[in-house]
Amino acid sequence: MSAEPDPDGVLTRVRSATPAMVKRVLRPLARRVGLAAPRQWWDSSRSRSPHLGMRSRGAGAWCNICGWAGDGFEGVAHSESARCPICGSIARDRFLFWCFTSRTPLNRKLRVLETSPRLGHGYRTAMRRWFSYRSSDFDLGAHLADIALDLQQIDLPDNSIDVLLTPHVLEHVPDTRLALSEIHRILSPGGRMYLQVPLLQGTTAPPLEPEFHADNTKVYWRFGWDLTTVLRDSGFAVRVLVPSEFAQELERTTTDAADQSGEFDLGSIRRDVVHADLEPVLTDRHARLLGTLPCHQFVVWECVRDAS
Ligand SMILES: [Zn+2]
Repeated sequence: MSAEPDPDGVLTRVRSATPAMVKRVLRPLARRVGLAAPRQWWDSSRSRSPHLGMRSRGAGAWCNICGWAGDGFEGVAHSESARCPICGSIARDRFLFWCFTSRTPLNRKLRVLETSPRLGHGYRTAMRRWFSYRSSDFDLGAHLADIALDLQQIDLPDNSIDVLLTPHVLEHVPDTRLALSEIHRILSPGGRMYLQVPLLQGTTAPPLEPEFHADNTKVYWRFGWDLTTVLRDSGFAVRVLVPSEFAQELERTTTDAADQSGEFDLGSIRRDVVHADLEPVLTDRHARLLGTLPCHQFVVWECVRDAS
């Protein structure tokens, strides 16, 4: 039998490692490079609830979805980037998850539905451990999901969902009010929706030119702050959740700041905001750790159905 090649003696040292050494050296090292995170995430004996506390231990970046901590996320500071090297979450995924888990009374029986989730098998397995979780997609084309659902005609009974997570879907639905009335119908009394759409401008309008997102689905609406009124008209109590830094930035009447940041029309976003609707939910320190920068790219509407 030929010996296993081990030129640097690494295998020998690992095999002879004592339990104390494993605890003191190898586990922190594995955690540091991210190898320990999937285990924490998948191990049901340890992972009885979503990651809510800060477990960053001095790291510069922390993924609240899988628990990875490290020096920084991959990519650039943008809501569609800053990718977690372990679970693949991007910055907006982590902000939505933060809003949901930090604002909702959590329990194992929560019936959670997520429309067109980006994250795959590992994330969904974890969500199923924590909640009664299902995922949906309009046609099961661009996203794998448990069920096909059209938000304008939801094939689910009344009062059958406690929490709806809907990231970057409503802008692809032609009839917003019809979708919201269907969502209101399927939510249980006191149930809630965490609604995420790109906020690129202050007031809602259809795109000036045909617009498609990466998965080739058409954009019907570019939403603004006035979406809040439409949500209230549909029977929800609404708070607009933002990072603290964004709320402070909107308070300032800046004349020197740039009015355009890529796709984001900051001039109309500043002009049309309703300050009383805003609810700061993320400190500057937590925003840096979660990689949710720049702050103006992160908005989630919390919509609570009346309890009766
Ligand atoms: Zn992650």
